[in-house]
Amino acid sequence: MAEVGSYYYDKLSWPEMKEAVAQRRVIVLPVGSTEQHGPHLPLDVDNFLCQSVCEGAARLAPDDVLLMPPLSYGFNWHHIDFPGTIGIAWDNYVRFLLDIVRSVAHHGFRKVLIVNGHGSNRPLIEVAARQATMDNEVICAAFTYFEIAKEAVGRVRESPRGWVAHADEIETSLYLYLRPEGVRTELAEAENNMLPSEFWWQDLQEGGRIGMMEWWSTFSHTGVLGDPTLASAEKGEALYRAVTEELAKLIREFKERPIRPREDHH
Ligand SMILES: [Zn+2]
Repeated sequence: MAEVGSYYYDKLSWPEMKEAVAQRRVIVLPVGSTEQHGPHLPLDVDNFLCQSVCEGAARLAPDDVLLMPPLSYGFNWHHIDFPGTIGIAWDNYVRFLLDIVRSVAHHGFRKVLIVNGHGSNRPLIEVAARQATMDNEVICAAFTYFEIAKEAVGRVRESPRGWVAHADEIETSLYLYLRPEGVRTELAEAENNMLPSEFWWQDLQEGGRIGMMEWWSTFSHTGVLGDPTLASAEKGEALYRAVTEELAKLIREFKERPIRPREDHH
């Protein structure tokens, strides 16, 4: 490879890409959203945090991975009452992901990880990963970065259940650790105006018993759902380390995972 140790997909030339295929590298596609994150954080939170943990994992497993340019727009029309948010329709979103996987599969890659940074993308990346595995000679898995380090999130958080959801203690801590100049700390304010329910609440670590999403502005005036005043760079560092280590472990395991033959029982 021309750039020694380069794990950035789009930094390779096409002959180098053939080499990357021969090395059976795992494709990692970061996906996020361009979306409001309260008055104290910029709109790039989901993209920046997801991209950062993917880069951190790539540094730990540099020979096993190819990191794709991120998909920076997501499924989030429910945030549209807040200026700046960009919403992509669910079907466009799924088809876009399927086209990306189809392309890398065509070039010969067999392992694809879709790493997500935005809660509401979850059902769509799941559908896309399942469909992509049926449509191509690949195995494709999809997950949200904080899900692979749930234990660490549980250790770090001080927020009670229902308070780790959006622009909260966790996201603000990670941002404080990775790019403190982007956090308007003086504007950070806790908010949770969810209607109390035995069945429905939002929480990235331990979500409610049923799924539902109302317009964000019906339950949040600031755009926040959580308590960013509990955030710290120390918490962010602990989370970053946990997520990147788990992600690197997953990449290595996924690379060696055999794709077993189908058996037609008709
Ligand atoms: Zn977010």
